[in-house]
Amino acid sequence: MLTEKTPLCELKGIGDARNRAFLKLGIENAGDLLAFFPRDYEDRGHTVSIKEAPDGEICSLIIKIVSTSEPYRTKTGLTITRSEVSDDTGSMELVFFNNPYIQKTLTRGKVFRVYGRIRYTMFGKEMTAPKTELVYKGRILKPFFPIYRLSPPLTQKIVQDSVKQVLPLCDSLENVLPDSIIKENHLINKKDAVKELHDPQSEDRLRIARRTLAFEELLTFQIALSGIKSIQKTEKAHPFSLKGAGMGKFYNSLPFELTNAQKRVTKEIIADLGRDIPMARLVQGDVGSGKTIIAAGAMFLCVKNGFQACMMAPTEILARQHTETLKKLFSPFGIRVELLVSSLKAKEKREIRQGLADGSIDVAVGTHALITDDTKFDRLALAVTDEQHRFGVAQRAKLLDKSEKDSIRAHMLVMSATPIPRSLSLIIYGDLDVSVLDELPPGRREIKTRMIREDKLPEIYAEIKEEIKNGGQAYIVCPLIEENESLGRTAAETHFEYLSEKVFKGTDIGLIHGKMKTDEKEKAMADFAGGKTKVLVSTTVIEVGVDVKNASYMVIENAECFGLSQLHQLRGRIGRGTRQSHCILVNGSGSQEAFDRLKIMVDTKDGFKIAEKDLENRGPGDFFGERQSGEFKFACAAVSDMPLIEKTKKEAKKILNDYENPEYKKITESALKFLERTDGLKTVN
Ligand code: ADP
Ligand code: MG
Repeated sequence: MLTEKTPLCELKGIGDARNRAFLKLGIENAGDLLAFFPRDYEDRGHTVSIKEAPDGEICSLIIKIVSTSEPYRTKTGLTITRSEVSDDTGSMELVFFNNPYIQKTLTRGKVFRVYGRIRYTMFGKEMTAPKTELVYKGRILKPFFPIYRLSPPLTQKIVQDSVKQVLPLCDSLENVLPDSIIKENHLINKKDAVKELHDPQSEDRLRIARRTLAFEELLTFQIALSGIKSIQKTEKAHPFSLKGAGMGKFYNSLPFELTNAQKRVTKEIIADLGRDIPMARLVQGDVGSGKTIIAAGAMFLCVKNGFQACMMAPTEILARQHTETLKKLFSPFGIRVELLVSSLKAKEKREIRQGLADGSIDVAVGTHALITDDTKFDRLALAVTDEQHRFGVAQRAKLLDKSEKDSIRAHMLVMSATPIPRSLSLIIYGDLDVSVLDELPPGRREIKTRMIREDKLPEIYAEIKEEIKNGGQAYIVCPLIEENESLGRTAAETHFEYLSEKVFKGTDIGLIHGKMKTDEKEKAMADFAGGKTKVLVSTTVIEVGVDVKNASYMVIENAECFGLSQLHQLRGRIGRGTRQSHCILVNGSGSQEAFDRLKIMVDTKDGFKIAEKDLENRGPGDFFGERQSGEFKFACAAVSDMPLIEKTKKEAKKILNDYENPEYKKITESALKFLERTDGLKTVN
């Protein structure tokens, strides 16, 4: 008997090869296949006339067969069948390859619905290899045909045939959404929604089906997130007192005065930290807005109250840089800061973990090494994560677990440099209060951004040489590490050789990329930061947080390969000092689309505007780190669907306030399952 657990190989037509292909798509059994929703649909229901059918577009037409040729073979061995067809507005040709039997079906006078790409040729309009459906009285033609993601050797037909076999399982699907929500929002039952998605009956029903499943996904997600938040709200935290902490002395020791935005956000944080409930706050600020010092202030207060603080960063480079910064800031006050990353020697790691456990280290900065099971703190009371969008909800929770003692939790401060569209931040950071740093420190000059073609590079290199003479430095960023990963793109290693031997002969230049060993990376970064190397050729490893004030040029090769937000992050690496900085986007693509996208970078410096554009153009993937993307893979929900996100957020609140109500049992269970699943995400470094 067919159940959700039935392995796919028991379905008709699924042998070893196809089974493996399905596995690649994450589909093991009938239940998985049922939940494997189409990525798109062929819209065959909206038909156009032959006269209207636009050149180069895929369209659907109802036509009558005028005549069909005998199949004939070309010199290259193709068998071609041509059919002349017409409607009230004109005539055109259908062309079929290697399908000689089609001649028997396409007989004069019969009416078909055909679906395919229209081309205008010298001899008139034609459609090659269309999909055909005979139209006759009493036949109801379906408006939409599902299109699934594929993995070879799967074809749409194979997937469709397999899905058809598991569709009866729909009948046993129970609603996860509470009935009251289904009714209020004019949604439908889950079983009908799933069936409709695989086998749409009408445009309206398909829309409601999608909305129903999107609602379920988002509501589950929101409950899972708010669940974390409400746990935090009921738990206790250590309140920090300003009395005798010497915050004034700390801020006076800085070489600059805080901006008004920094002052405002610092006040918000200090107010949170003064309470006995755990803070859960996100600081969002564009690159260079000065988030580090805000975190440093909070950590200072924490340590002066007798507790430990930690800061987690997504890369070792960044963790090391933060360690340096904090050591400088804190050492005059006798605060001990140490680095904990996985590349340290086993002995060093042991010693640091010992220091954290016995409390002799006040502040730990690190990567994921901080959240492994063998890291224990003596009295952790503040956990900061930098560039948080790269971490997952589960990792965030795990860092907090480190502090759990007698059910007293650490305060949590999250810093994000990627400006995130509001709709997305509600999803990713739904569990956090938000502070926005909307002001850059004074004295920064605007970065001048240009888009050029490759043939203009010699002029740019000349500019850079001049800049180096005057004491500046330059980043040259490439999309790939080695040659041949993908043709035509600049690879960091070969490009490095070319630049050091040809272009910048006699100048010290460095190379950094993700596949280098940590100590090599570290040395390359230190050499550049210290001004020993003048040019740094790199991949996107420098994207996050790295701060070299002297760097004033950034050349991004094959800029069209990057997402806009990523380009914005990269651009944020320069313009950090007082030099006039230049960002040069090398456009290696001839397409209008690439040009338009890069033009946005030239015209806009507001990270939030850029992020909105990115979300529109490329979808949400770029905003999530690799680790995290699994958490936010929605099958139906669009993360840009602001109204639905707001709506489900409200409903989630209602449900959590009354979560013992039996009507909410299914949805709260679904949220729990979601959390379990994400907690299973392994941390890698
Ligand atoms: P981000 O928000 O990107 O993390 P950082 O904290 O790295 O920014 O700060 C960028 C640079 O600006 C650092 O060199 C920092 O010392 C400097 N900075 C921060 N705040 C101020 C300020 N109020 N005035 C002048 N410089 C500042
Ligand atoms: Mg930073």
